Amino acid sequence: MTTPSSRRTFAIISHPDAGKTTLTEKLLLQGGAIHLAGEVKARGQARRARSDWMKIEQQRGISVTSSVMTFRKVFDDGRDITFNLLDTPGHEDFSEDTYRTLTAVDSAIMVIDAAKGIEPQTRKLFEVCRMRSVPIITFVNKVDREGRAVFETLDEVADALALDVVPMSWPVGMGGTFQGVLDFASGLVSRPEGDSREYLGTREAMEIPAEIAEEIELGQAGYPAFDLEAYRNGDLTPVYFGSALKNFGVAELIDAIARFAPPPRPQSSDQGTIDPTRSDVTGFVFKVQANMDPQHRDRIAFMRMVSGTFKRGMKLTPSGLGKPIAVHSPILFFAQDREIADTAEAGDIIGIPNHGTLRVGDTLSEKNDVRFTGLPNFAPEILRRVALKDPTKTKQLRKALDDLSEEGVIQVFYPEIGAQWIVGVVGQLQLDVLISRLEAEYKVEAVLEESPFDTARWLKGSDAALKAFTDFNKSNLAKDRDGDPVFMARSSWDVGYQQERNPELVFSATKER
Ligand code: GDP
Repeated sequence: MTTPSSRRTFAIISHPDAGKTTLTEKLLLQGGAIHLAGEVKARGQARRARSDWMKIEQQRGISVTSSVMTFRKVFDDGRDITFNLLDTPGHEDFSEDTYRTLTAVDSAIMVIDAAKGIEPQTRKLFEVCRMRSVPIITFVNKVDREGRAVFETLDEVADALALDVVPMSWPVGMGGTFQGVLDFASGLVSRPEGDSREYLGTREAMEIPAEIAEEIELGQAGYPAFDLEAYRNGDLTPVYFGSALKNFGVAELIDAIARFAPPPRPQSSDQGTIDPTRSDVTGFVFKVQANMDPQHRDRIAFMRMVSGTFKRGMKLTPSGLGKPIAVHSPILFFAQDREIADTAEAGDIIGIPNHGTLRVGDTLSEKNDVRFTGLPNFAPEILRRVALKDPTKTKQLRKALDDLSEEGVIQVFYPEIGAQWIVGVVGQLQLDVLISRLEAEYKVEAVLEESPFDTARWLKGSDAALKAFTDFNKSNLAKDRDGDPVFMARSSWDVGYQQERNPELVFSATKER
């Protein structure tokens, strides 16, 4: 019987091409989930070869299983750890789901390309982690190729992300001079040997060129010691160097997650924080995946377990519904394939098939006595005006937009002035999904037009301050689906300008539900 503390639920944040797929595959291989590793690869290839959403959806079977990948490793010292790796969709399928997944993890691995450093998508995902104080382990990948100087990379992470950095290993040369990776904790250097790696032994036994040896001395002396508490608070990141492709540094990385990454964390709710040791089952839905076949309205809701032991057939009450549902055929994402879950613990994810009753942000609980808070909406990065081909379908459109925004596919904004509704998304693919689902499920034909706005911010402040602002800025104001006021900005500069002029208001890039 495992205890909750044996779970490590994490995600990988990275920019496309940094090596997330390759690293995922290697992590799963080490955990023995070989079959699934092949699927990850297949998915990566499909993604690279094709770009449009329908084709991505043909891979649905793979994408459901690879949404959550569970593997287990028994370490030499007897620790038996179960890892839940949650996929953060990138490339074409980058969306609000990508952000929301980060609300369901306890820690993250940030993969950066040794030659490129911090790239835009990494930074965006990092900001979401920071907002929730999600601790981060950094993996600098591709050291087998020519990259930036190690100090440069470390300084960039420290400066760009305002984090303390602690190198835990050091590459011995890079690119043409690459000779291996020195692990500071063990003092061992792993060296390439054919296609894989081989421990050569201690650093003393290896002839490290003088200038690299000197650099390593400086590196080891020049940074503070690793501090577990600072890491867990999200103030410090341990940095590992390696090559996912050649399997360097991957074992050290898994060991770091097992050793340092936090076990399931307490979650905040309207009843205070709910501890993972609480005995009855509670959890929240962070993602809903719809079946794109219009004939089937089935969905899979992904629930993060916060407490208790889930058993198949258990009755749970979704907060949005108010009456219990029996969860007969949940999906547990374990090792080889989709399996029917028998039990799941705090930190685990279960997939719950349903017909649209479960929504992003819903709490599910045995006793229906708690509501988790803090699952946010994220400010859209793409805004479009919705134009109907048939203007008599306004009612259907409104219903569809409300439904789809509740499901978490899009966000909808109703401007104070003018009749044209605006939809907001985080990734382009969501727009394709929107048009296609409007047609298939609501028989509404619509086109998306450029919007004068670039982003949106939720407004918070006293009634008087809100009224003063809204009276004056009607043409830039909208309401979201809950009727809350939103400032529609023409640029991020606009947001900064208005925030400066209206210090009594908060222009928030997220909205907590
Ligand atoms: P993703 O987009 O982040 O999932 O990146 P992939 O895992 O698909 O990798 C992108 C490319 O980088 C592929 O061609 C990989 O083979 C290559 N790659 C990944 N890791 C390494 C590495 O450690 N060294 C080298 N040289 N190439 C790598």
